[in-house]
Amino acid sequence: MTTTRFAPSPTGYIHVGNLRTALMNYLIARKAGGTFILRIDDTDPERSKEEYVDAIKQDLDWLGLHWDRVERQSDRLDRYAEAADKLREMGRFYEAFETPTELDLKRKKQLNMGKPPVYDRAALNLSDAEKDALRAERGNGVWRFKLDHERIEWNDGILGEISIDAASVSDPVLIRGDGQVLYTIASVVDDTEMGVTDVVRGSDHVTNTATQIQIIEALGGACPRFAHHSLLTGPQGEALSKRLGTLALRDLREQGVQPMALLSLMARLGSSDPVELRSDMAELIDGFDVTRFGSAPTKFDVQDLFPLTAKHLQSLPLADVAEAVADAGVPADLAEPFWAMARENITTLADLKGWWDLCRDGAEPLIADEDRDFVAEAVALLPEGPFDGETWGKWTTAVKDATGRKGKALFMPLRKALTGMERGPEMATLLPLLQVIRARS
Ligand code: GLU
Repeated sequence: MTTTRFAPSPTGYIHVGNLRTALMNYLIARKAGGTFILRIDDTDPERSKEEYVDAIKQDLDWLGLHWDRVERQSDRLDRYAEAADKLREMGRFYEAFETPTELDLKRKKQLNMGKPPVYDRAALNLSDAEKDALRAERGNGVWRFKLDHERIEWNDGILGEISIDAASVSDPVLIRGDGQVLYTIASVVDDTEMGVTDVVRGSDHVTNTATQIQIIEALGGACPRFAHHSLLTGPQGEALSKRLGTLALRDLREQGVQPMALLSLMARLGSSDPVELRSDMAELIDGFDVTRFGSAPTKFDVQDLFPLTAKHLQSLPLADVAEAVADAGVPADLAEPFWAMARENITTLADLKGWWDLCRDGAEPLIADEDRDFVAEAVALLPEGPFDGETWGKWTTAVKDATGRKGKALFMPLRKALTGMERGPEMATLLPLLQVIRARS
C-alpha cells in the first residue's frame, strides 16, 4: 500500500518550501488511497520545541492536509540504537574523533589540492588503544557509516536516472559524540519499519538519499521510491532560503491567503501543468502527477497568491464566509446582498470591512464642479424605498430623462458622488446597501 510521510523537524514554523514537500506527499498518498504519516523529526532535543509541533499541526489543519497518524522520532530511540548495533556488528560503523577544527583543516587542504572535500577515513586506522586514548582525552567520538565505494543509482521520480559515486561523499555521521542519533539513520529506520513506499523531498536531500540507500540496503530494508523536487527561489530567481522565515504559512494566513489558493499554486508551480484554481481537495488530488515536475529551480512569488485568493473567495456562497461577513459588522439581514456585492470586489476577507464601512457610513462624495447641479438634481429624483436590485436602473432612467445625460456622463458622477471612487462594485447591487441613502428614502 502506498505510504508517504511529511517529516518536519519542529525547530520552527513551516513555510512555503516545506508545504511543497507536505503537499506532494499528501497528494500521492490520497491519490493512491494510501496512508499519509506526519512524522515529527525531533531527535535534536535542544532545537525541537513542542510549540512548533503544535504549530505544524495547526498549519496542516488549516490547509486541510489531514494525516492518518503521527509518529515521533523521540519515541523510537531504541529502534535507532538497535539499527546502530546492527551496523556495528556488520563492520559498517566506526567511531571517529576529529574535532570540527581538524575536519575543517582537512577539507581546506583537500580543496587546495583540487580534491573534493571528502572525509579521509583516518579513523579506520586507529588501534583500540589509540581509540581509548582519544576517548579519554576528547570523550566519545562520532559514529560514521562506512559507505561502499561504488556507484549509487536510483530512478528519481522527478530527476530521472541518478548515479552518484559513493567515493565522492563523506561517510555520514549517524550518531554524535553526545549520543544524539541523527536524522540520516532515524529516517531510514522509520521509512523501512513504517513501510514508506514513496519519499518526496527537496533536492537538497539528494546526497542524503545516496547514503540512505546504502544504509537501507545494509539493514536489509526495502528502498522506497524517491523523488526530489527543486528548491524554490524568489521571483527573480534569487535564493529564498533567507526569506523563507517570512513566508511561514501562518504569516500567509495572517495576510488573508486562502488555503485553496495556496494549495492550488503549490500543487502546480514548477510542473508542466498550468496553475489553476481548484475548488476542493478532490480536484487537487485528481489533477496531481509528481512526474510532471521539473528539476529547474522554481520561482515563487507570494503576490501570485492574492489573485487566486480573490478568485476563490468569489466562488464561495455566503455560508462559507458568514463569520467574516458578520465580523465586518454587517447585520444578518443584509449579509446575503452585501456578500453578493462585496465578493467581486475583495482580494482577502479583510477587505470586507472597508466595503461595509462604505455601506454604513457613506463616502466623502467626489463631485466635480461641473457636476454639482446634475448630482443635486439626480438626488432629488431618487425613488421611494425600499431599495432593491432594480432601483439603480429605474433611478438612472429617470435621471437620464430629466437631464438628457447618458452613458459615462450619467453614471460616473453618480458613482463618484455615492462611493467617492471612480471604480468599484456594480452600482445596482451597491445602492440598496447604502445605509445613508436608505435612511433618506
Ligand atoms: N526532517 C527532515 C527535513 O525536514 C526530513 C527530510 C526527509 O523528508 O527525509 O529536512
